[in-house]
Amino acid sequence: MTPRVSRPESLPNPYDVLRAHGLRPKKSLGQNFLVDPNIPAQIAGSGGVRSGDVIFEIGAGCGTLTHCLSGLANKVIALEYDEDLAPIAQAELAYAEHVEIRHGDVRQLDWPALAEEMGQPMVVYGNLPYYLSTDILLSLLTHPEAWRRACFLVQLEFAERVCAPPGVRAAGSISALTHLLTYPSLLFQVSPKAFSPAPKVTSAVMVLEKRETLAADVGDMTVFRRVVRALFAQRRKMARSSLKQIHPNPTALLEDLGLDSTLRGERFSLAEIALISKTLHES
Ligand code: SAM
Repeated sequence: MTPRVSRPESLPNPYDVLRAHGLRPKKSLGQNFLVDPNIPAQIAGSGGVRSGDVIFEIGAGCGTLTHCLSGLANKVIALEYDEDLAPIAQAELAYAEHVEIRHGDVRQLDWPALAEEMGQPMVVYGNLPYYLSTDILLSLLTHPEAWRRACFLVQLEFAERVCAPPGVRAAGSISALTHLLTYPSLLFQVSPKAFSPAPKVTSAVMVLEKRETLAADVGDMTVFRRVVRALFAQRRKMARSSLKQIHPNPTALLEDLGLDSTLRGERFSLAEIALISKTLHES
């Protein structure tokens, strides 16, 4: 593998790179590579990187998005789990001394330790392996001190769920946590044709901007997570029933707070969920 020594306009199509190495995309690793040359630059430009930021990319692949990110910050770390691809991305990005490709599993990442190593909260990017989108987002939301903004290419349906505010039908349990900690926005859709192999679904770029302070006073994060899990675990049930797993008398609890105990859990707003959490924490 010959390392690339000078910065090209764009990196070669990942499909050609894989073929040149006798490799095929691994479905089990969610390998849908970006082959539309415009999309990586659009994603890179969407993350709101400021001067002095450190960028961390999840899933470097052949380095297509990494290449566009390399022009935005003085330090870019890109993680790749596939042991065949990590050295390929390393060779493709060899022209950029400030870019480091690490071989590793995002599921094993110690986010606080990584942020400490970087000396500041990171801007996190990724054309995510779709099978890990939820796990990745949950681990970031569990360690909000480790990052400042996140810009991800994910399945459209996932982006819609994450960005929907609690209380609307499209929202899920992950929406409550996301809205509590961040300002989420769905920026634009990406057609399956932009990838090789083409996924069966449309994708979308979403950005999560971390809030300076939580959107509501929830009393305690562990209690808030427990309330959210209970309300959304059986989303068709009335709240007075779904909250039974965490409180002996949910009807009285909700009525004392002026909330309708017959509403489905999924219908409560973030402020209402926060109120339930704060009350449980203080009781
Ligand atoms: N960034 C490249 C692009 O845009 O063309 C590749 C994106 S592809 C959708 C997702 C990448 O994540 C693949 O390269 C895949 O090998 C990698 N990946 C899958 N599971 C991973 C894991 N557990 N940890 C880190 N990377 C992983």
